[in-house]
Amino acid sequence: MKSVKFSSCCNTPNLDNSKYIETIFNSKDGNIFTSLSTLFVFSFVLIAILLLNFTISSNNINIDSTSSNNFNYIIEDYNRNIPINTREITENLSNEVIKNHDPPHNSRNIIKDKLQAKLNNINNKYLKNNGIIIESEVLSIYNGENPYNINVKTLVTGKKGKMEYNKIVESVVSIEGLKDPLPFLMCKDHPTLIENGTKITYNDALSYYLANNNLLNPDAYENATASLIIKKCPYDPYEHHGAGQCMKNCIDNGYFHESADGSCYLCRLEGRSTCPHYGLETFISPHKVTNLTYRSISGSDHVIYYDHYPGDPIQIYQENGVYEILILDESHGAKYGMV
Ligand SMILES: [Zn+2]
Ligand SMILES: [Zn+2]
Repeated sequence: MKSVKFSSCCNTPNLDNSKYIETIFNSKDGNIFTSLSTLFVFSFVLIAILLLNFTISSNNINIDSTSSNNFNYIIEDYNRNIPINTREITENLSNEVIKNHDPPHNSRNIIKDKLQAKLNNINNKYLKNNGIIIESEVLSIYNGENPYNINVKTLVTGKKGKMEYNKIVESVVSIEGLKDPLPFLMCKDHPTLIENGTKITYNDALSYYLANNNLLNPDAYENATASLIIKKCPYDPYEHHGAGQCMKNCIDNGYFHESADGSCYLCRLEGRSTCPHYGLETFISPHKVTNLTYRSISGSDHVIYYDHYPGDPIQIYQENGVYEILILDESHGAKYGMV
């Protein structure tokens, strides 16, 4: 073993020195080149991975933000539709009540239940079409401060993946443009009144009601007319009705007015001519007359249908000795600037 090791050691000086050096040098150069290449490839791979990661994560952010926007949009759209659905349900209920002369015992509960059923249906559609779990609970249908609106409170929860929504949504529903069901319910025992889409003509329905309740001069309201559609009177403050043709215009257009004594729309649906809520009143016009002496019940609808106190004829318009009148008590005369 020792001799072999020695001879191997002693063979080295027999090689050509320059070749030996060159071989070593070449070998060293090759190692450097290989190392540099490896480093370069490694860096390239690293940069590529980093770039790829960045692209993937930025794509994910985009996808996340798109689906989050989409989720929020759907929830907002859902909430926006609550008052639209409520109005449609209220309008259908009103039309049904007018057609059948049959008031619900509790209009708020009826609207609440119908809205709940409708929202349940809509929730199922969102789950099927968008994969969003929406659950909603209609908490209440109630009166707000404005008698031309009804209000809805709904608990809405939504969920899709990590996105969640949970809020009590308060909606305001305008009742302007809906029909007033009260006259049809008050005259249901003798329902000869008709409507033409804008106005009510009572025929003998109202005089029958007055006679039936032993009220003063039922004949004054034979062929009486009144407004059908809830429309907010623009003559505000109300004393302005006494100026020029304001009251005539108000009557011709069939406007409604705010009134603490008049009943609210939800109670009108129940056939209640008075209620504890801040409500509405409108005028009922007697037939035209040729003299201004005929007294009867004051022509605000809550007085005719509930309070039953009398009033005097007040001229609204006159042509060729024929008068358009309202019968008004002193307090209503003053409220509308007519006395
Ligand atoms: Zn008016
Ligand atoms: Zn009410």
